[in-house]
Amino acid sequence: MIQYGRQKIVEEDIQAVISVLRSDFLTQGPMVPRFEEELCNYVGASNCVAVNSATSALHIACMALGIGDGDVVWTSPNTFVASANAAIYCGATVDFVDINPRTYNMSVEALECKLNLSKKMGLLPKAVIPVHYAGQSCEMERIWGLSKEFGFKIIEDASHAVGAEYQGGAVGNCRYSDITVFSFHPIKIITTGEGGCALTNDEKIAVKMRQARSHGITSDRDLMEETPADEIWNYQQVSIGYNYRMTDIAAALGISQLSFVEEFLEKRRTIARVFSEHFENTPIILPAQHPDTLSSFHLYPIRVPSSCLANTQMEVYKFLHGLGIIVNLHYIPVYLQPYFRRLGFKKGYCPESELFFKEAISIPIHPSLTKPEIEKIISALKKIVH
Ligand SMILES: *Cc1c(COP(=O)(O)O)cnc(C)c1O
Repeated sequence: MIQYGRQKIVEEDIQAVISVLRSDFLTQGPMVPRFEEELCNYVGASNCVAVNSATSALHIACMALGIGDGDVVWTSPNTFVASANAAIYCGATVDFVDINPRTYNMSVEALECKLNLSKKMGLLPKAVIPVHYAGQSCEMERIWGLSKEFGFKIIEDASHAVGAEYQGGAVGNCRYSDITVFSFHPIKIITTGEGGCALTNDEKIAVKMRQARSHGITSDRDLMEETPADEIWNYQQVSIGYNYRMTDIAAALGISQLSFVEEFLEKRRTIARVFSEHFENTPIILPAQHPDTLSSFHLYPIRVPSSCLANTQMEVYKFLHGLGIIVNLHYIPVYLQPYFRRLGFKKGYCPESELFFKEAISIPIHPSLTKPEIEKIISALKKIVH
C-alpha cells in the first residue's frame, strides 16, 4: 500500500525518546524549552510555546488575542476543521473566505471584498486565520496590509508548512502576523506523535499563551498578586487555562525530527518536481506556486477536471485504491460539515472551494516514497487521463 502521507522515524528518533524515558523528567523537564528554542532559531521568531497539538496552539492563540463572545473570526473553508473550531472554543462566530482557484489558499481579492462589505455592516472580524494549504504560504504581505487597513489580528495556520518559505524568509517568523501555528501530527512535515506550537514575536502574547497552556498558572513573581508574608506560594492561577502541555518524550522526538527537516523537505520537493514534469502536458491541473513562496509540499493536490475524464472523482479514487495507491481528499469545505450546516451555512457559499473539492485528489507525497512507488503513481494517473 502506498499511503498519501506517512511519518518517517529513524533510529536517532527512537534513541532520543528512550533517553527521556530513562531520565528524571517525562514532562516539564528540559526537552520542551530546548525544542522551543530550536524552533525559534529555525524560523527566526523570538517566542515559541510548544503544546500537545496544533488545535491547542490555535486555541491558546485565539485566547491570547482576546477573542471571545461576540467576536467574529474568518478562515479558509479549504482546511482541516481545527482552524475554525479554535475560535468557536472562545465563543466567537466563524465565517469563511473563498479560495484562490489556482493556489487553493484564501483569496486576497475575496478577503478584501468581504472586508469592504462587512465594514459597511459594522461586522469586521477580530482575527483572520489564513491557512497555508498543502505547505504553500498565503500572500501574507497583502493580508497583513489589509489587517492594518481594517484592524484585525492574524494567526497563520501553518500546520502544513513547517520548513516552507515566503519572500525568502521562513514561515513561522511572524513577519506578517501576530502568531503562527505548526502541527507535529505524524501526517505533517515533522512529528512529535501529537503536538504543535505557537510562535510569536510579541512577548505579551507569548506570556498569555504560556499561561493558557498550563491552567492559567504563573510562577513569575511579577505576575502574581500580593500574598501575605507568612504564606508560601510558588505559583498562582491568575487567569483561566488548560492542560495543553507537551511532554518531554514528545519534545525529544521533535528535536530529533527537526534535525532531519531539511532532508525531509528536499525529498518532498524532489517528488513534487517529478510529478510536475510528468503531468505538465496532461489535462491534470497541478497546484500553482506563487513566485513568493517555497512550499513544504505537505500535500500534493491535483485537479482532474470532470470534463476531461471518463471517470468520476469517486471512480478515480477507487481505481487508485485498487492499485494500492491510497489517495485522499483535502478538503471538504469546512462549512459543509454537518456541525457548520447546523449553524446556517449552505451549499454554494464559497463556489471555488466547492469546485476544488469536486475535482481535487491528494496524491501520495512523503519522504519515504521509493522511486518505483513514485513511478507507479505516475503511470496509474496517466492511465486515467488517457
Ligand atoms: C492537522 C491540522 C490541524 C490540527 O493539527 P493537530 O496537531 O492534529 O491538532 C490544524 N490545521 C490544519 C490546516 C491541519 O492540517
